Amino acid sequence: MKRKINLFMSLLALAACLVTFVSTLVVSYQTALTRMETETFRQASLVAAGLEEILELPADELRRYLEAVGNSDSSRVTLIQSDGTVLFDSSHDSSQMENHLERPEVQEALNSGEGTSIRVSATLGRQTYYAAIQLSSGEILRLSNTTDIVTSDLQRAVPALVLIILVICGLSVWLAHRLTRRLVAPINNLQLEGTENNNVYEEISPLLSKLGNQHAQIEQQIDELRQRQMEFDAITSNMSEGIIVCDADLQILSVNHAAVRLLGATQRDWKQESLVVFSRDPKFNQQARAAAAGEKVYYAMQNAEGAHLQIYFSPVDGENRTRGCVVLIVDVSERYAAEQSRREFTGNVSHELKTPLTSISGYAEMISTGLAQPDDVRGFAEKIHDEAGRLITLVDDIMKLSRLDESSPAELPFEPVELYQLAQDTVERLKQLAEKQKVELSLAGSAVTVRGVRQMLEEAIFNLGENAIKYNQEGGHVRITVGVTPEGAQVRVTDDGMGIDPNDLAHIFERFYRADKSHSQKVSGTGLGLAIVKHVCEIHGGVVRVESKPGKGSEFTMRLPIARL
Ligand code: ADP
Repeated sequence: MKRKINLFMSLLALAACLVTFVSTLVVSYQTALTRMETETFRQASLVAAGLEEILELPADELRRYLEAVGNSDSSRVTLIQSDGTVLFDSSHDSSQMENHLERPEVQEALNSGEGTSIRVSATLGRQTYYAAIQLSSGEILRLSNTTDIVTSDLQRAVPALVLIILVICGLSVWLAHRLTRRLVAPINNLQLEGTENNNVYEEISPLLSKLGNQHAQIEQQIDELRQRQMEFDAITSNMSEGIIVCDADLQILSVNHAAVRLLGATQRDWKQESLVVFSRDPKFNQQARAAAAGEKVYYAMQNAEGAHLQIYFSPVDGENRTRGCVVLIVDVSERYAAEQSRREFTGNVSHELKTPLTSISGYAEMISTGLAQPDDVRGFAEKIHDEAGRLITLVDDIMKLSRLDESSPAELPFEPVELYQLAQDTVERLKQLAEKQKVELSLAGSAVTVRGVRQMLEEAIFNLGENAIKYNQEGGHVRITVGVTPEGAQVRVTDDGMGIDPNDLAHIFERFYRADKSHSQKVSGTGLGLAIVKHVCEIHGGVVRVESKPGKGSEFTMRLPIARL
């Protein structure tokens, strides 16, 4: 706009200068011509008056007078008889000149005493002004001047005039430039925030206030959009599921960290990049294309780290066509592992149940078929009783575990449970076993209350205490300590028993895992006790840790959040 105004004003200034120049020339020419005409006529009158005085003199005297006049002045002097015969001409030989009766100025002078005319001279061939006056003798005195005088005067003035015009042009262009700058400056400095502060032209005030309103509206909409974008980013960035939003050409509009991590893409800004570059998996891209074409598709895959992913592609419908697609990536590894462990658990349960049942069936068969000697029957019945007892314990533990599997913390009857008291009760229950094993059992620490299910927590402490006694030797010690640590409430069960081999340590919390197989033969157990402890801790928002040295002893620590009373 600035350039246009500048150009327009400069052209205007140049045009004004040109018009001034031309009109100055025309006016000057006209003025000079009029002056020349007046002057010619005045000279003619003077010469005529002089002639009147000497009309009586002989013709030679008159001729000398006229020659003197003709020589002293640039004007041409002609004396014409009333019949048109040229008697004298200061520029030409009068005898050679044609009859001048028909000349307009001559005709006019014959009629009214004086006459003027401007035309191209037949004698000189140039534009000439004539002034004719009739003398008292009837002859006509004519003075003439060519317009060359006027034009030559003007020609002399032209360079100066051109110079002046050029200076004016330069000045005008400079002024136009400055004026444009001053004109445009307030517009350039317009501020759309707070339009009332703009001290600009009154004429554009309505436009400004309209612009200001629109600006405020746009700002508000941008703020809202920004807010929504922030909300969307906050939600998606904290999601453990991956989410990708693409347009119809599969250009990424939004992608969260989880999606980048789960699909193994490099951590960088993927916005406006193609989904095909984001994931090189041909199946993934094929499904994405199908979703962008309006199809709802789903498939499962395993990523490079072995995580099991379920990927859902949903088209985003526009007015008449699909406008893009949303990809949701869910890591189902945990669920997959849980299903796997449930399958394994079922297998293990069947296997574990089968062993005592096979024994029971065997002994019972021997008794029923009479194969067993009457003396052995009592022993076989005891074995059947033991195996049945093992079976009951096993079924008991399996039921406890499956109850734990099914229950979610929200559904459980949580209550404040004081752990020291609970440990004391457990110690009472374990006393008999400890005495039988000749192991010294002690309790120390202070009261601490957690929120939980009493029965479950007691079961966990019991299992740890029972193991510490079971996997110990005569004269061994088991110490249960209850207390508060910066990490929460703590129950620690320490023994100086056989300890656990480092290779087994990572597995002892697995279901049905029994560390030392040969030893397990001697010590009865189901391999589910520690799995129950771990599960109980997790349900209560806590953890269980173990430290152990073979031959030296073990230390199991349960940590649980302290109840806020
Ligand atoms: P189990 O019924 O066999 O005791 P658990 O799940 O309670 O099953 O324990 C798993 C395995 O961990 C046991 O078989 C045993 O080998 C080992 N273990 C547990 N507690 C101790 C301990 N205090 N000292 C040594 N080994 C232990």
